Amino acid sequence: MKAERTSARLIWIHPEAPAKPAEGLPCNGCGICCAAEPCPVAQFFLRQLSGSCRALQWSEQDGCYRCGMLIQPSAYWRWLPQRWDAWFARRVRRWIAAGTACDSNAWLEPAPSSAEHGKDSAECSGRAD
Ligand code: SF4
Ligand code: SF4
Repeated sequence: MKAERTSARLIWIHPEAPAKPAEGLPCNGCGICCAAEPCPVAQFFLRQLSGSCRALQWSEQDGCYRCGMLIQPSAYWRWLPQRWDAWFARRVRRWIAAGTACDSNAWLEPAPSSAEHGKDSAECSGRAD
């Protein structure tokens, strides 16, 4: 069987973001899936159907991407009272299967000028906390 490329899009990724692991390996917060397209949570609650998810946050401290709908959902979904953040984030964690394996089969072809960037990190999990 031959692998075929089905779609391509330009995404912006922080130069210090960890390299994407293979599908099925632990999520490391590379951010590629969320930068490529919004997940169902973002589509439903943020009404964002395409483009880089606006809840995707770069964490300077952790050196990886984090999901803003896990960190402070009321900052992104304005109907949610701030006092419900923790409760709602627990649900989001289940819905996006945070803290589990990478479920994205996307891959990155770096622009020639950025081919040197990217590093591995075992401590981050972008969709996780
Ligand atoms: S699930 Fe997304 S953020 Fe996590 S490793 Fe896979 S592509 Fe990166
Ligand atoms: S997991 Fe979070 S950051 Fe990623 S697309 Fe979904 S809502 Fe956005």
